[in-house]
Amino acid sequence: MTSDFETQLRAVSLRVTRPRLAVLAALRDHPHVDTDTVIALVRADQPTVSHQAVYDVLRALTDAGLVRRIQPAGATARYESRVGDNHHHVVCRSCGAIADVDCAVGHAPCLTASDDHGFEVDEAEVVYWGTCPDCATERTSPLIRQFGRK
Ligand SMILES: [Zn+2]
Ligand SMILES: [Zn+2]
Ligand SMILES: [Zn+2]
Repeated sequence: MTSDFETQLRAVSLRVTRPRLAVLAALRDHPHVDTDTVIALVRADQPTVSHQAVYDVLRALTDAGLVRRIQPAGATARYESRVGDNHHHVVCRSCGAIADVDCAVGHAPCLTASDDHGFEVDEAEVVYWGTCPDCATERTSPLIRQFGRK
């Protein structure tokens, strides 16, 4: 069941360990979560894993390219296992919800600089900021906010 993750780890010459498998599984099921959430998810399965161990796993997986770290301005770092494409993110200014947006072009850099100043540009970091549907509903419906949602 975890053989995909084992293959991924071996492909980048990382040893297969239970915490590494657990982090990859957590990120597959819960994309764009922060470190604390990853720790909670891993510990639900392996209660004895330390915070430091999860930090170390996240760093190793990110360095190896199996995990992508995203950090929208003013937000805590989030992690996801969707790597290898140039997808972008739409972030809610209000609650911080994040969703994937496929790259319009499909590869980096997807924006051409108006003046590259002679640099060899290889990436454009695109973040779409806005209001998620839940927050937009709350904003336009004061009664829902007053009496609570759901
Ligand atoms: Zn929101
Ligand atoms: Zn993403
Ligand atoms: Zn793009």
